Amino acid sequence: MGLKTEVCIVGCGPGGALLGYLLAKNNIPTIILERNEEIDKEFRGEHLNHEGEQILKKYQLYEKLEEYGLLLMKRVEYIDHGKVIKTITPDPENEHVGIHVPQNNLLNLFVNESHQFEHYQLMLGTKVTETIQDETGHYIGVKATKNGKEISIHSSVIVGADGRYSTVRKLANIPTTIMKHGYDLLWAKIPSPAGWEPTIKLAMVHDMQLALFTQAGGFIQIGWNIEEGSYPTLRKQSFEPFIMNLLNAFPELTEVVHQHIRSWNDFVLLQVQSSRSETWVKEGLVIMGDAAHTMSPTGAIGVNSALKDADVLSNVLQNAILQKDPSVKQLKLFEHTRREDIEKLQHDQLEKEASFKGNFVV
Ligand SMILES: Cc1cc2nc3c(=O)[nH]c(=O)nc-3n(C[C@H](O)[C@H](O)[C@H](O)COP(=O)(O)OP(=O)(O)OC[C@H]3O[C@@H](n4cnc5c(N)ncnc54)[C@H](O)[C@@H]3O)c2cc1C
Repeated sequence: MGLKTEVCIVGCGPGGALLGYLLAKNNIPTIILERNEEIDKEFRGEHLNHEGEQILKKYQLYEKLEEYGLLLMKRVEYIDHGKVIKTITPDPENEHVGIHVPQNNLLNLFVNESHQFEHYQLMLGTKVTETIQDETGHYIGVKATKNGKEISIHSSVIVGADGRYSTVRKLANIPTTIMKHGYDLLWAKIPSPAGWEPTIKLAMVHDMQLALFTQAGGFIQIGWNIEEGSYPTLRKQSFEPFIMNLLNAFPELTEVVHQHIRSWNDFVLLQVQSSRSETWVKEGLVIMGDAAHTMSPTGAIGVNSALKDADVLSNVLQNAILQKDPSVKQLKLFEHTRREDIEKLQHDQLEKEASFKGNFVV
């Protein structure tokens, strides 16, 4: 099977899904390829900040997202031995300190809104395995497998929006520098006890951050930083003293934790890293979002950065396609607009991580 389009986006995460919507809305023929059969299968962050909110508002998507469901965080609390020692409340012009949006809601919003456009096609269960180049080395399409069969999609531009382990980036031989952050993250989800307010609560356990993020639908996401690479050793130890640390920090969760977190198996390990790619653009090919620049979980900026990339890249791509000039020079406008901001955000993440303990000095 062979298909043809102007823009072929690989990956239907927040970045790829919003880019697909913006291009199709502007009559640019677009195909999105997503390896999973369902769009919300990958693990990813779910907190939006002010920047992400503004992008959704700019395209009148925020009001629609409210209908799908979201939750506004009232404050951030720093907690020491069960006592709140510092509180961050919203700026006067903001009614929250962050927004929880289940990824299912965000991605379904983008995809459902996109289906109204004639030039939009989303192909689920379609895994990209190869890029296609012409005799000059210019990228002109991809090969993918769907239901065990190979298909090829020819396009003017390929966009790698395929996340931190990007296949497109690897196939295009774009070198990447991985930065480790000295910690990994244990992740677990529990129902919130009755009366739990929409807050982000941060405690310190053995000098590492233990965070509780309230989620829409009556849940709390636990994000527990542990020393990088320590999980295999930790898992060999008794679970009881470990979980007691959480109960000492948040005694109000004793009942619900006993019911829902009984062993190491109730936590998921996430290996924390950020990354920088040497270039985001090659002839006929662009990478964006986590594929171009993975962010660490600190400050919850990964989804927001991917949305901002989609916002900027959609304009660059529209001009390039309309002018029939998808050259590196045109596509680089995207990288030139975004790279400095991204590298500053990554720098700020490292600084925040280094100064975390200072929040607990009163
Ligand atoms: C623990 C943790 C917590 C986080 N918390 C937050 C948070 O609260 N707020 C926030 O803003 N960010 C957060 N992030 C970061 C955030 O999840 C990512 O930055 C964001 O999802 C990146 O979006 P993306 O669209 O670039 O890529 P992704 O969301 O990774 O999507 C990439 C898509 O590409 C698909 N794909 C991959 N390979 C192929 C292929 N070969 N063929 C076809 N499809 C393919 C994948 O299936 C996936 O759907 C967190 C990250 C971690 C690890």
